[in-house]
Amino acid sequence: KTFGDLGLIDQLCEACEHLNYKKATPIQAQSIPIALQGRDIIGLAETGSGKTAAFVLPILQALMEKQQTLHSLILAPTRELAYQIGDQISALGAFIGVRKAVLVGGMDMMPQSIALGKKPHIIVATPGRLLDHLENTKGFSLRQLKYLVMDEADRLLDLDFGPILEKILRNIPKEGRRTYLFSATMSSKVESLQRASLSNPVRVSV
Ligand code: AMP
Repeated sequence: KTFGDLGLIDQLCEACEHLNYKKATPIQAQSIPIALQGRDIIGLAETGSGKTAAFVLPILQALMEKQQTLHSLILAPTRELAYQIGDQISALGAFIGVRKAVLVGGMDMMPQSIALGKKPHIIVATPGRLLDHLENTKGFSLRQLKYLVMDEADRLLDLDFGPILEKILRNIPKEGRRTYLFSATMSSKVESLQRASLSNPVRVSV
């Protein structure tokens, strides 16, 4: 299927064309229409499946419908993955003027705090550093958040981010928020994270 067939707007289809994405991958073909219907999603998919665009494209479409700062938060287990997701947001959002900030550990807090001050639409973060900003960066809150993504949730939990995730979840609204959880494997820890954070999700797997 083409991206237009899935219900994506022209600016996003064009960005896919520029990236030479000719047709949707299976995880994209399954997830995007469900996401555009406003449902929560549990996606079982490996890296390389195109899962990043599967959650980034519906978020960008929602952002186009209602421009808002601090609209979406994407949590990733590692710095490298966070930067890769950030790069895809910039590429896929090239025609809609999206602002993003990437908040990862091992880097100075200050430039990240300045980036937050510029009111990004989308934040990509590793959990520890995000919590650090929630606790220490003045004026930063996630009370307006509309979308939460937990990418590679099995790894997020393996790295013992569990207690940090719980604290983060307490800082974001549950009402009116959509949540996508992507994982390569389903474990009992992932299941309990899912029960704690998703509402009536649709399961998608490739
Ligand atoms: P991911 O699984 O999200 O890490 O994506 C793996 C790679 O596939 C990335 O380099 C993407 O840019 C690329 N990709 C994502 N969607 C498509 C698509 N529909 N067609 C071709 N390549 C894609």
